[in-house]
Amino acid sequence: MKIDQVSHSVYAVAGTNVNWALIDDGSGVTVIDAGYPADTADVLDSIRQIGRRLADVRAVLITHAHLDHIGAIPTLIEHVGMPVYTGAEEVRHAKREYLQQITPVGMLKQLATGRGRRWVAHTLRAVHGHIGMAIPQAQAVDPATLAALPGGLVAIPTPGHTSGHTAYLMPAESVLFSGDALVTGHPLRRHAGPQLLPAVFNHDEALTYDTATNLAKVHAYTLVPGHGLPISFDSPGIAAALGSRPPTHRH
Ligand SMILES: [Zn+2]
Repeated sequence: MKIDQVSHSVYAVAGTNVNWALIDDGSGVTVIDAGYPADTADVLDSIRQIGRRLADVRAVLITHAHLDHIGAIPTLIEHVGMPVYTGAEEVRHAKREYLQQITPVGMLKQLATGRGRRWVAHTLRAVHGHIGMAIPQAQAVDPATLAALPGGLVAIPTPGHTSGHTAYLMPAESVLFSGDALVTGHPLRRHAGPQLLPAVFNHDEALTYDTATNLAKVHAYTLVPGHGLPISFDSPGIAAALGSRPPTHRH
């Protein structure tokens, strides 16, 4: 685990090939995403390492309900009992009314490269025994509730990676929490910098691209992504770095 303070109130935390974020504005802590199940102890520890107690956590926000973003939530609910919020559509995903994640075949295909084999080994270790995890307590967040949470946030619907994927903007410090809608690196990728996740992870690739392009125009100076390092940027640079639009996804 590595904790990186990216602005006055915001800490980006790197866990097992995935990030979560903590916002501590003095009124309490908002947690954005929660690592893999195997990151649970580190998620709890990161809250203590920024000088806060678990009881200071006011809410957990989920960008999307993939296993590498919800792992510590059951334990946090047990200890703190705070609410868990996400976008209205992603609530259904968190409750596992349906599942949009990489298929077993998609994972097997990664074994073709050394990079892929290392990623599969890390992933299997990190989800071990929790493949069926759901967050039945997830609820849809409304603008007033989000604005009143530590950090004062705004939700940005960012469909594509999952249908209900939701990014969050903290206007007071111009920080964008993009989840997996826009990342800056991944173990399966050679290069770092603003990019989409490999297509195998995205439910709708063309929509993921359009969403990332729109997200790159959001007024923010710091990007805290779900994967890769947090970066500071000038808005115009991001869209160009994403490259050309992929062919339309066919169902
Ligand atoms: Zn994801």
